[in-house]
Amino acid sequence: MLLFYPQFTRTFHDLPGHTSLLIHAWNGCNMRCFGCHNYDELIAGKPVNPLTPHNVAERLKSADQLMDAVLFSGGEFLINPLEDIEQFLRAVRDVFRGVIVLLTNGSYPRKLERLLADGLADGVHIDMKLPYHCLDPAEDSAIYQAVIGTVPSVRFRDDMLQSIELVIRHNSPYSRIRTVQYPILSPEFFEHIREYVVSLNARHHSSVPYDLNPYHQPLP
Ligand code: SF4
Repeated sequence: MLLFYPQFTRTFHDLPGHTSLLIHAWNGCNMRCFGCHNYDELIAGKPVNPLTPHNVAERLKSADQLMDAVLFSGGEFLINPLEDIEQFLRAVRDVFRGVIVLLTNGSYPRKLERLLADGLADGVHIDMKLPYHCLDPAEDSAIYQAVIGTVPSVRFRDDMLQSIELVIRHNSPYSRIRTVQYPILSPEFFEHIREYVVSLNARHHSSVPYDLNPYHQPLP
């Protein structure tokens, strides 16, 4: 069942020009990234007094006048069953007129494709944490392990690339491709990612922005 962290965060910078509410699903994550800010509270521990989908929809009903966007993050929001996510997002659409944006690490392209096709999300902020297209899961396993905390199968790596291409092909003004400037990586990693995003935008006649965000050490 979808569960949510009870504390919502108002944000002005995640979606420029919008007043957004950032809401975290509390169902874990399939990665353990270097310096993850959510790990201790949202992934490692068991949920304590989480909100249900109904609770979140009720809160969003009262936020409808104050916010014009909602961002659903995790952990990994799309780790949940597709039917549960669809049901929840339909309930959100019923009570909230603002933009719905999903935050994802890209592991679930088939769920993402379905949600976009059904119009249940207006945009996606997707991570491209490494130049996956240049890194072989077997040969470059140490790099994967260091950055995303796991060594993906070839299929998993390809799924992440498929999700990124899907988001660029969808070409929503609310979407972004994002990388954290991990201090353990040299600048050429980020250059390869940027080039890849630029080439996909060119291929699909899209203009999805690429953000290279600074790394912030988690607080002890
Ligand atoms: S994908 Fe996001 S939530 Fe999951 S471990 Fe990485 S940074 Fe943390």
